[in-house]
Amino acid sequence: MAALKIAKLGNPILRQVAQPVDLNELTRPGENAIQAFMDDMIETMRAAHGAGLAAPQVSRSIQIVVLECLNNPRYPGRDEFPLTVLVNPRITRYGEEEVLGWESCLSLIDFRGLVPRSKQVTVDAHDRFGEKVHIEAEGFPAVALQHEIDHLNGIIFLERMADLTQLSYQEEFETYWLKQDVAAV
Ligand code: ZN
Repeated sequence: MAALKIAKLGNPILRQVAQPVDLNELTRPGENAIQAFMDDMIETMRAAHGAGLAAPQVSRSIQIVVLECLNNPRYPGRDEFPLTVLVNPRITRYGEEEVLGWESCLSLIDFRGLVPRSKQVTVDAHDRFGEKVHIEAEGFPAVALQHEIDHLNGIIFLERMADLTQLSYQEEFETYWLKQDVAAV
């Protein structure tokens, strides 16, 4: 496994709509490049202390996201969720209730922005071996799913912000906003 280079804001690949993965590729026997790529995505996410990573962020415009939040120093006090690998994910239902939370992104790691999201979402996808997955998520994992699946449509959290005056450098976020944030989501 190897940590991959993360595409940063301004790299056009972050603005492309990612292509669906051919599910037959997932179970192809022998040397399986796409399985190795998913392992590399997980390693890249963990090395950068991300709570999620989408394939376009490592310069592959295909519909794969990985998510995990376990004792993550970048998200203290947030709900934890286990390692999840999703292929061709779709949000099939957005709950009506909204939450506001300070998001960050490995593609603009120095920034935090206050983003309104649906508190609950339903996601239908496939796992890394092509099996169907149905997820009903609420709170921080629901927000993380929305953030990562946005990447597959070329959307960055900045476009989801209601008010750009609430964009902050990470250091200033920790100084002025972190304590209020823990209660917010
Ligand atoms: Zn991101």
